[in-house]
Amino acid sequence: MNPVLVEILAIGDELLYGQTKDTNSHWISVELDKVGFKVIRRTTIGDKEDQILTAFAEAEHHADIVLITGGLGPTSDDLTKPCLVKYFNCETAIHPEALAEVTDFFKRRGRELTEVNRQQAALPICCTKITNPTGTAPGMWFDKNGKVFVSMPGVPHEMKRMMLDMVIPKLKAKFQTPALHHQMIRTVGIGESYLADKISDWEKSLPNHIRLAYLPGLGEVKLRLTGTGDSIDVLKQEINVLVEKLKPLAGEYIYGYGDTPLQVVIGNILREKKLKLSIAESCTGGYLSHLITSIPGSSDYYLGSIIPYDYEIKMRQLGVRPETLEKYGAVSEPTIIEMANIVRSKFNADIGIATSGIAGPGGATPDKPVGTIWIAYSDKRKTVTKLLKLSQERLYNIEYTATAALNLIRENLPA
Ligand code: ATP
Repeated sequence: MNPVLVEILAIGDELLYGQTKDTNSHWISVELDKVGFKVIRRTTIGDKEDQILTAFAEAEHHADIVLITGGLGPTSDDLTKPCLVKYFNCETAIHPEALAEVTDFFKRRGRELTEVNRQQAALPICCTKITNPTGTAPGMWFDKNGKVFVSMPGVPHEMKRMMLDMVIPKLKAKFQTPALHHQMIRTVGIGESYLADKISDWEKSLPNHIRLAYLPGLGEVKLRLTGTGDSIDVLKQEINVLVEKLKPLAGEYIYGYGDTPLQVVIGNILREKKLKLSIAESCTGGYLSHLITSIPGSSDYYLGSIIPYDYEIKMRQLGVRPETLEKYGAVSEPTIIEMANIVRSKFNADIGIATSGIAGPGGATPDKPVGTIWIAYSDKRKTVTKLLKLSQERLYNIEYTATAALNLIRENLPA
């Protein structure tokens, strides 16, 4: 079965100027993906008649369904309706039901219906009206040679209600979509190109109807397998088999599946093993603790942190030995070892984690450039350190370090 192709057109100068973020297109993509429609292109167009008409023609050429948001209002800069009238070459007329709805909308709010508002009920006679229960501009549905155009308001909550209640059910009734299944495989501790190298034979063996995407993030790479076919159960089975075949090649880097982030996976393991965690985080300044405590129930395994950002605080509050700091510096392996061990024993925790480094842009020395970061893991059996050589970008360094520290926990947890 062929996929049903969709193009989304977001109309409005404010989207191009960056004054409004196009959240509509993203939301529509997510909802359509859930029901098996394939969005192939998203286009943003300003309030310009010729550009809107060109975009309609191009979208009709590429896609089976064209979903349009924005520019439906009653003011002169709202051009979507006049453009649709021109494109479909049909007259407008006051739609009695639309007029009743807009009249009722104003009546319920105790406001008078002006002529401008009345004109919102004037619809192209070649369209089917789509009721807008939460606003005044009705949506419009056009059928043309087996293709469908739908125009909806730009106001996000109006568009969403219309999509969920009317447009998606109507599209599902008209088009038969193939089954679509995604599986996200989450990896950490390996870069995208190294991972691609490791799994290249596996990747080459994928059947045509199952595609692979690499989604790199900070310190993580997500692999997304997307299968299309006739049966969701068959696809799930096929993808499960492929995941099993991937494990011997990259299993040590796979920490989870689906939407579950690393901090949740680590938290669940700590809870299950009844282990308590404490952190001394210098260069990450609390970001690692924030990631951990953003998860509900983290008090089951997280005892607390100290943020010994300052040299003096590393000595006086945490208890790193002055000799260690003087001889090796705050960003050094001996210091990070002490930090992890001390925070573990001070908090009476099972695991101590420490971070210390030069996040940048200042603070570099000839032998320690910006991005030089030490992290350490400590439990009662062992202390493990890792030197990261990261970038000039302060926030990137902080976020990457937090992920690397979480991964250090994952790699070293007692069995
Ligand atoms: P209405 O007539 O009901 O106001 P409309 O179709 O005329 O709807 P617009 O005037 O284009 O809608 O936009 C209305 C509001 O919705 C504005 O605040 C605009 O910033 C916002 N909006 C428009 N398009 C989008 C979009 N793609 N994503 C998020 N918000 C949007």
